[in-house]
Amino acid sequence: MSISGIKGMNDILPGAVEAWQHLEHEARRIFGHFGYREIRVPVAEKTELFCRSIGETTDIVEKEMYTFSDKGGTSMTLRPEGTAPVMRAFIQHKLYAQDTVNKLFYIGPMFRHERPQKGRYRQFHQIGAEVIGVDDPKIDAQLLAMLSHYFESLQVPDVALQINSLGCAECRPVYRQVLTDYLEQRLDQMCSDCQRRYTTNPLRALDCKVPGCQEATSAAPAMLDSLCTSCDEHFGQLRDYLDLLAVDFTVNPRMVRGLDYYTKTTFEMVTGSLGSQNAVAAGGRYDRLISDLGGPDLPGIGFAMGLERLALLLEGQDIAAPRPDLFIATLGKDTESAGFKLLTDLQRRGIQAEMEYSGKSLKAQLRRADKLQARYVVILGEDELQKDMVQLRDMDQSSQTEVPLSGFAENFSMSHTEG
Ligand code: ATP
Ligand code: MG
Repeated sequence: MSISGIKGMNDILPGAVEAWQHLEHEARRIFGHFGYREIRVPVAEKTELFCRSIGETTDIVEKEMYTFSDKGGTSMTLRPEGTAPVMRAFIQHKLYAQDTVNKLFYIGPMFRHERPQKGRYRQFHQIGAEVIGVDDPKIDAQLLAMLSHYFESLQVPDVALQINSLGCAECRPVYRQVLTDYLEQRLDQMCSDCQRRYTTNPLRALDCKVPGCQEATSAAPAMLDSLCTSCDEHFGQLRDYLDLLAVDFTVNPRMVRGLDYYTKTTFEMVTGSLGSQNAVAAGGRYDRLISDLGGPDLPGIGFAMGLERLALLLEGQDIAAPRPDLFIATLGKDTESAGFKLLTDLQRRGIQAEMEYSGKSLKAQLRRADKLQARYVVILGEDELQKDMVQLRDMDQSSQTEVPLSGFAENFSMSHTEG
């Protein structure tokens, strides 16, 4: 019996991968313009890192982590998200000593043991960005302007930016008490998860997808009404800057994020097209995280977007697979080696060239050229080889010319590559 892949962990095949490359390429290009530099961190970390940063009572830490002991007995976890590992690296390598502001981005797989369904997998991929060292709301607005610009440049349909503020160490506990008091009257309507964590993490009830919990919390007091003066000002300035930069948004006072480390600004890029997998990108400010992890007392803000969900939204767009520039067809035994040499010569010069390797008929070769949608076909027959000529067929124009074989690779590559 053949071996299949692991449930919830997908292959990204040629044909689909072009859209992914496009997403990644656009992120590198646009994030680069905004001053972000790439950081690459391992896929596994000590389990403790995620427990301490994400929070013991979150869905991720409670039930979604891939945790195991390695042969030396160290408890390690496949990263469920990117912020904690990036902050761990930031602290460990003292990046703060090199510059007072650090803008970083990452691209890579994340792992969560969830029930696989459309837009929700066990290995999935995120592109994320983080800014460390600035608490001015200008940077919140700039990060959101960059995220919106990225979505616009990809022409992602049906997405909208929602923002909220979750307050700080001063005002969140006050709100938490207000919310706990409110929920106490409605506990029997709520799901067992929310009942269990209503004392430890009552905010999660606002985020719960179970209908009973949504109903129970529909008229709950909002964090925004409990913000302290400084958080309220920060949120007001953020909204003004977003207006200044012409970034569209709505305020969603019910949005809480699933990770404990968020403070003040939080946001999601939501879509109406993916059912309950409606968040395509999400993030927020984490002003306490770096110091909680033993680093300097520096504020940060960031987001992560899910590439599977983004790719699903872009399915309507026909992102072209690359087609060969040229296909070499040969006719006669002696021409095969000459054709093969020409092929490699062209490839070394940056031309995407193809041929049929196993001596098929001319008809079969041309059929393959057609199937691959090669832009040009070179036909090399024995007569041509004698005369040092080839037939060059332009498949789009349906025209054919005879050109010299010597110097062909050089001439063709000069006129068909940039620079
Ligand atoms: P959800 O509420 O859908 O579970 P989340 O709040 O757990 O999302 P985050 O931790 O904020 O998600 O991750 C950021 C983004 O990563 C999400 O907006 C989503 O696009 C993507 N993402 C998260 N979990 C998965 C998953 N299991 N499969 C695919 N994409 C995911
Ligand atoms: Mg989740």
